[in-house]
Amino acid sequence: MPYKNQVASKGGHSDIVKNPDVALFLGECDYMKEPSEEEANEIVSSFIDAPLNGKLPSKVVASDASKFSEPISGKFPSTQIGYVKVSLVLIDVENYNGLTPIGSRYVDPFKVAAIHRNADAFSFTLPGSNITYKKASSVANGFRLAIYEQLSNSKTTVSKDGSYNVRKLLFEMNTILPKPLLVVKHCPSCKNILPSTHDDGFVFSDSSDKINCPNCGESVYYTDSLRIHEEISDFGDNSSAITRFMNAVEHLIMATLIKMLADLQPKALSDMAFIIDGPLAIFGQPARLHSRLMALYAQIAAKLQEKGYEPPIIVGLQKDGQLMEHARALSRFIRGNTFKLVDDEYRFRHIKGSTSKSDNFGHETYYGQDFIFKTSSGKTFVVGMPYPFETKASKATFANDKANIDNYQNMIGRAFDVIRHFEFDLYENAVVPVALAHRHASISLIPGGKILELVSRNGLG
Ligand SMILES: [Zn+2]
Repeated sequence: MPYKNQVASKGGHSDIVKNPDVALFLGECDYMKEPSEEEANEIVSSFIDAPLNGKLPSKVVASDASKFSEPISGKFPSTQIGYVKVSLVLIDVENYNGLTPIGSRYVDPFKVAAIHRNADAFSFTLPGSNITYKKASSVANGFRLAIYEQLSNSKTTVSKDGSYNVRKLLFEMNTILPKPLLVVKHCPSCKNILPSTHDDGFVFSDSSDKINCPNCGESVYYTDSLRIHEEISDFGDNSSAITRFMNAVEHLIMATLIKMLADLQPKALSDMAFIIDGPLAIFGQPARLHSRLMALYAQIAAKLQEKGYEPPIIVGLQKDGQLMEHARALSRFIRGNTFKLVDDEYRFRHIKGSTSKSDNFGHETYYGQDFIFKTSSGKTFVVGMPYPFETKASKATFANDKANIDNYQNMIGRAFDVIRHFEFDLYENAVVPVALAHRHASISLIPGGKILELVSRNGLG
C-alpha cells in the first residue's frame, strides 16, 4: 500500500468527473471535500494538546495481514485458490539493532527479506472461486469446511503446548457476553427451518463443535457462526469473503496472543504495545466478533489493574480510508502535538458528508475509538484505541461515553508515546512490522509459542 508522500491527488481525476452529466449529478450529492482554509482552521480549533506519558513499552508486537488470490492454471483464470497470511513481529524497543545500522540511512535488505520470509507465521489456504474442497457438495460447503479445519488446527497456536489458539479463544468469547457467539440459526447448506428439537438453532460447545443437520445431513460447524461463507457463491468471485476472513483472523490471532499473556505473563503484558493494521473494527458478516473483542480487552485491562499493572497498549493504525484522507487534507492546519478524539458529531460534520449524525457510529463493527494525532514534528496519524468498556450500553449513552476523554485515562498518552517513538519509520514505510523493525531488534513470531520465553527471558515476567 502506498504510504510515502501520499497526498490527495489533484491531477488524478479521470475525465468522467468532467462529464457534464456527471458534474450535474455530483452537484446533487454530499461528499467529503477538501476544506477551505477558513473551514480547516475552524475544524482544527477543537484539537487539544496531546498528552505525554514519558515511558515507552519495552516490547511492541505488530501484525500485518495480506491475502492473495491466484488462478490455478492460466487456462482457467476464474478458478482461483485463496491464501491469507498474518505476520506477527515482536520488536524489542530497548535493543537498537534493527534494519538500519545506527547513524546510517542504509536499510539492510537481508534483514528485511528475513522478516518477510519468517513472517509467514500464520497462513491459511482457502478455496477461492470455482473450487470445491474435499468433495463438498458446493463451493460454499467446502469453504465452510476449510475455515473450520484451519481455525481449529495447530496453525493458530501461539503457545508452545498448543493450549492457546484461535479455537480456544472463540469458545472463551462464546460465553463472554450473555448472548452466545457460537450459534447458527439455520443450516447454512439447506437453509431449511429446523425441527423443534433445534429451536435455538445449532448450539456449539467445546466438545461438540460440529453438528449434523437433521434435515439435509450436512455438517454445520461452530465456525459457521462467523458467517464468512455467506458471501461465497458457486460461480462468482469469492475475494470479498477472503478479505473478511483475513480481517477477522488478524484480530483473533492478536487477541489470542494478548489473552495468553494476560493469563500467564500479566506483568510483561502491561509493558507491551500491540499494533494492528487498520481500525479496531470487524466489518461485514463476522462483525459480531467486535463486541467480544471489546469485552475481552476491557476484562483484561480490569484484571491487570486489579494486580496493580497498567493495561497493554493496543492500537489500530489506519493508513488509508476516509478518516486518514480527511486527516491528510487537514494536516497543514493542525498544530503540532495536538489531537482530536473523533466523536460522532465530528465524523458526521466533517467526514461523512452527511448532515445528521448516526445514533452511534460503528455500533455493529467498532471496538475502538479513533483519534487524529499530529506529532510535534508534523506527522499526522489516525490511531484507534479499545473502548474502555465491556459492553456498549444504549446507543446514545455509548456515543457520549466513548467520546469522553477522561474514560481513557493515560491510555492516550501511552499510545501517543509509541507513535512518537516510531513516527518517522511508520511514515516512510508501508508495512507496519517492517517499519517498526527499522531501528530495533525484531523477531518474527513463528507459531510454536516462543513469545512467552521472549517476554520473560529479559526479566519482564
Ligand atoms: Zn441442512
